[in-house]
Amino acid sequence: MLITELQAAPGFERVLRAEEPAAGYRAIVAIHSSRLGPAVGGTRRWRYSTDDAALADVLRLARGMSYKNAMAGLPMGGGKSVILADGEPASRAVVFEAHGRFVESLGGRYITAEDVGTSHEDMAIVRRETRWVAGLTDPSPVTARGVVRAMTAAARHRWGSDDLSGRIVALQGCGNVGKSLAAQLAQAGARLLVCDVDPARAERCAAQCGANVVSADTIFDQVADIYAPCALGGTLNADTIPRLRVSIVAGAANNQLALAADAGRLLARGIVYVPDYVANAGGVIDGARDICGWSVERSRAAVEALYNTTLDLLRSADDAGETPAAAADRIAESRLAS
Ligand code: NAD
Repeated sequence: MLITELQAAPGFERVLRAEEPAAGYRAIVAIHSSRLGPAVGGTRRWRYSTDDAALADVLRLARGMSYKNAMAGLPMGGGKSVILADGEPASRAVVFEAHGRFVESLGGRYITAEDVGTSHEDMAIVRRETRWVAGLTDPSPVTARGVVRAMTAAARHRWGSDDLSGRIVALQGCGNVGKSLAAQLAQAGARLLVCDVDPARAERCAAQCGANVVSADTIFDQVADIYAPCALGGTLNADTIPRLRVSIVAGAANNQLALAADAGRLLARGIVYVPDYVANAGGVIDGARDICGWSVERSRAAVEALYNTTLDLLRSADDAGETPAAAADRIAESRLAS
């Protein structure tokens, strides 16, 4: 395997590229910060238009992990890896074994887990080559639980009550987290409008939790109380924010704001926004069982504590007259600098 150290972008500790042509494997690892502990962040497998696009993605995601882990109070830094899916590999196992060797070469400074385009089954293959991998069980239900806690805190902040019963939630993306979130919200008495670009997934999710299916194009126009983005990033932007007819945005997707300025657009519309990396920290907190040896009880308590983290954040943003996104960045940056 050929491993090349790239010139690290400003603010990053290390960026490395690996290739193993015989395995059809090319990947990049970015370590943003290990100030608070080993850099932790999943492996994304994606078909990028260019190598530069892959690099930009891994840098943005690695930095996001530093902020997420710092904000959740975890003794972990931030990193990420991307595998460039240039075509269907002859064998998925060969690719993920190669990835395991790349991760192993970093000697524990970077710890990986699943992400978009990879599964906990893939991580079990990575594990054959390295012990620096967490999340061998599906983190999605715990991530969804964390979103429920963040959403409940936002409800308290916005309406003065934790009660989600009767609230209408417009949920985008009925994948691993989305379908679990829909089930948990239905159990809390919420009414759900769900969509997915894969209509069969939306139908399955709706059948399981008594939701109504709406088209993916119209999710932003639904009259609802809460919008829960659980698909890909960038769905909050100059086009969609004016269309929203909700009071709260809280969901699992990473990088929900297309631009930093979109946080201001939400604030100007009076919509309470729970920053993505605060709401979706449940999965990485669950990983602390593997990485830090936390007990199930400790990790569960930390996921429940996302309620307090969110409520404190929303209140402090209001007090400071800033957006919750800016307040979260400020808190995370001060922890990373300390
Ligand atoms: P997933 O791939 O299982 O589900 C995503 C779903 O979104 C799919 O069903 C897909 O068809 C759908 N989708 C894609 N584009 C859409 C669109 N424009 N409109 C409607 N539906 C669309 O992924 P997941 O594991 O459920 O993760 C969802 C999001 O949450 C991702 O952004 C991920 O990075 C983030 N996240 C996940 C976890 C976790 O524990 N899995 C943890 C933190 C963050």
